[in-house]
Amino acid sequence: MSKDSFEIAILAGDGIGTEVTDAAFAVIEAAQAKTGGFHLHRQEIMAGAGYYRDTGRDIEPDGEERAGKADAMYVGAIGLPAIRATDGTEIAPHLRLRERFELYAGVRPVKAYKGAPRMLLDERANEIDLVIIRECTEGLFYTAAVHDRSPKTNQDEARETLRLTRSVTERLCDFAFRLAERRKSSGSQGMLTCVDKANVFQAFAFFRKIFDERAAHFPDIEKSYAYVDAQALELVKKPWELDVLVMENMFGDILSDLAGGLVGGMGMAASAEIGDNHCLFQPAHGSAPDIMGQDKANPLAAILSGAMMLDWLGWQAGNDKMLEAARLIEQAVSDGFADGGLRPMEFGGNMGLQDMTTAVLSYTNAAKID
Ligand code: ATP
Repeated sequence: MSKDSFEIAILAGDGIGTEVTDAAFAVIEAAQAKTGGFHLHRQEIMAGAGYYRDTGRDIEPDGEERAGKADAMYVGAIGLPAIRATDGTEIAPHLRLRERFELYAGVRPVKAYKGAPRMLLDERANEIDLVIIRECTEGLFYTAAVHDRSPKTNQDEARETLRLTRSVTERLCDFAFRLAERRKSSGSQGMLTCVDKANVFQAFAFFRKIFDERAAHFPDIEKSYAYVDAQALELVKKPWELDVLVMENMFGDILSDLAGGLVGGMGMAASAEIGDNHCLFQPAHGSAPDIMGQDKANPLAAILSGAMMLDWLGWQAGNDKMLEAARLIEQAVSDGFADGGLRPMEFGGNMGLQDMTTAVLSYTNAAKID
């Protein structure tokens, strides 16, 4: 029998993070009530800028350990610009979780929902359905992250290090190929694009070499290559032709926001960070202090991140009910946009956080999947 009971560590965090987390779990509960077949045991972990202001710590004393023992971590949004650590940086314990639990594969789906705002006039923009896999633990963020906080700047010069390792790059490529396989089995084209700058940097020639080595293990997936600058252009000109794209940390940081912008922006941007033994899900937006507590936040990115969590856990555990619950939530968002029932303020609509949550709940209750 497949696993049906899961521990979820919730770090709701700051600002709208707490608001959209509540919305996401309300929708998850509705989907769960409909499908049955699994239980989520939620445990809240106090973390973030507000917690730091009140206690001097950025996460509960045993918070990281508890998060590591859970089947999945779910983060709302962490950090407030006005609250800083003594070295001037924003409070970001979730970045430590990424390092500590080696969450190397950042997954950012970019999917157009018919009826949702879109940036491109071409009708084919309704068909955008791609996934960006961004390496999350090394690359150009290697020295910016927890690895090395020593000064790299003086009066005359500033340096950063871009580091790629074989071990992470191999696992990243395998992850991306497996995702492309899974998507192919449900009707996508089954193509993985290696995005790099292998014509200029040795590090990216190394990345591409490893991509090619791993590709040999996935003969059913078509492989393609793009230099990052050309890929940026293609993402704007014909994103509907793309399937799965894998890339270094900084390239992924930039292109995933660009791609997200094509289909509605931050309020729609769900994301996951996956490692070999741990996984974390979170809306890609921040705590948005300018709108917190005003019933204005768009909860869809958080809700869709919740669906990703169900999908990933269900897939890993072979739990079909969880997969079904994930699809119900996606269907609810799709149905809601299609018939004009989801009109978030973020996109100029008249629906705040509560109205949006209520609407997604009712679409989830009504949703039918094949
Ligand atoms: P971070 O650095 O933590 O990612 P940020 O400063 O880059 O944060 P966000 O907090 O993600 O930016 O958002 C920028 C602005 O976009 C917010 O100030 C807010 O106005 C808007 N925004 C972001 N997320 C949402 C949302 N879910 N609903 C509505 N508006 C949002």
